[in-house]
Amino acid sequence: MNILVTGGAGYIGSHTCVALLEAGHTVIIADNLCNSKAETIDKIKEIVNQTSNENIDNQITFYKIDVTNEEAMGAIFTNHKIDGVIHFAGLKAVGESVEKPLEYYYNNIVSTMFLAKACGKYGVKKFVFSSSATVYGDNTVPFVETMKLLPTTNPYGETKAMSERILTDVVKANPDLSVALLRYFNPVGAHTSGLIGEAPNGVPNNLMPYVTQVAKGKLKQLRVFGNDYPTEDGTGVRDYIHVVDLADGHVVALDKLESGLHIYNLGTGKGTSVLQLVKAFEEANGIEVPYEIVDRRSGDIASCYADASKANDELGWIAKRGIVEMCRDAWRFEKNYKE
Ligand code: NAD
Ligand code: UDP
Repeated sequence: MNILVTGGAGYIGSHTCVALLEAGHTVIIADNLCNSKAETIDKIKEIVNQTSNENIDNQITFYKIDVTNEEAMGAIFTNHKIDGVIHFAGLKAVGESVEKPLEYYYNNIVSTMFLAKACGKYGVKKFVFSSSATVYGDNTVPFVETMKLLPTTNPYGETKAMSERILTDVVKANPDLSVALLRYFNPVGAHTSGLIGEAPNGVPNNLMPYVTQVAKGKLKQLRVFGNDYPTEDGTGVRDYIHVVDLADGHVVALDKLESGLHIYNLGTGKGTSVLQLVKAFEEANGIEVPYEIVDRRSGDIASCYADASKANDELGWIAKRGIVEMCRDAWRFEKNYKE
C-alpha cells in the first residue's frame, strides 16, 4: 500500500516508516521538520537498505510541508494514490501546550480535520491516528478502551481527546472509512542500529531521554518528581513501550483495519516506577544515573498502564521487548547521537 505518514521524520514516525518499508509498503512522508531533521530520512533508507535485497530508495518520498497547509497537502493526494494515512504530525510538549494553547489547538486539530477531509475527497479508506493514554485522565489502572474518559489536564491532552471525538464523528458520517485511534502509553528506546531514536530539542521533559542525557554527562542528575505517590516505591508508575513494538502496532493496525472506528491501547500492560526504570537502566548499561528526589510535577498522575489485551485479541499484536532492551537501545542511540 502507499501510505502517507505525516510526522514521519519524528521519533515514532521514523521507526514506523522503517517497519512499513520492511513490510513492503511505500511511504510518502509529510513533515515540516519543526521537531526533527531531514537527515532522518536518509537514516531510514540506510536501515532498510541494510536488510533488504533491493534498494528501497524509490519507495520513500519526502515532502517538507506543513500538514495544516491544505492546498499543498492536496497536491500530495493528487500526485500519489494514497491507500492509507498515519497521522503522527503534532506538537507534543505538555508544558509548552500550557504556554501556547492556540498553537497546539491549531496545529494538532486543524491537521486532523484537513487530513480527514482529504481522505473523503481523495477516496482514502484507512486512517490511523496517534492518540495517547493521556485521554484517560486520572482513571483507575489498568486503562481499558471501554472506560469513560476523564478530563485531561493540559491543552496537549485536550487536542488528543478532541481529535478522537472529531474522527469518531467523521466515521459515523462515512461508515466505509476505517479509523484506528491508537492510544500510546510511554514510547521509549530506539532502533537497534542506533541510527534513529528520540532526540528532543533542549532539556528533555520525558524520563528516558533525561536519563540517557544524565548517563552521557550532558545533564548533571535526574530529578525524580515525587516519592510519595500511592505506588510500590512512591514514584510514578508508567507503561513503557519499546518504540519498535509501537511501530509494528501501526503496520498491523493498517493491515487488519476494517471499516468503522477502532480504539486500541498500545502498551505492554506492565507498570514500571521511576526508580525501577533508573535501576534497570543502570544494570542494563553498567552506568550510574545520579538522582535526587524533588517535589511532584504538576499534572502528573500516580499510575498509568494499559490493559493491552484488545490489540492482542483483535490484531494479534503484542509488545515483545522488555525494559532491559528499551534501556539498552535508548542508550545506544544516545551514545551515537551528535547534535
Ligand atoms: P515527534 O515530535 O518526534 O514527531 C512529530 C513530527 O511531526 C516531527 O517530525 C515534527 O516535525 C512533525 N510536525 C509537527 N507539526 C507538524 C505540522 N503541522 N506539519 C508537518 N509536520 C509536523 O513526536 P513523536 O514522539 O514521534 O510523536 C508522534 C505522535 O505521537 C504525536 O502526535 C504525539 O502527540 C503522539 N504521541 C507521542 C507520545 C510520546 O511520548 N512520544 C505519546 C503519545 C502520543
Ligand atoms: N519523571 C521524573 N523526572 C523527569 C521526567 C519524568 O521523575 O525528569 C517522571 C514523571 O513524574 C512520571 C514518569 O517519570 O512519573 C514518566 O514521565 P514522562 O514525562 O516521561 O511521561 P508522562 O508523564 O507523560 O507519562
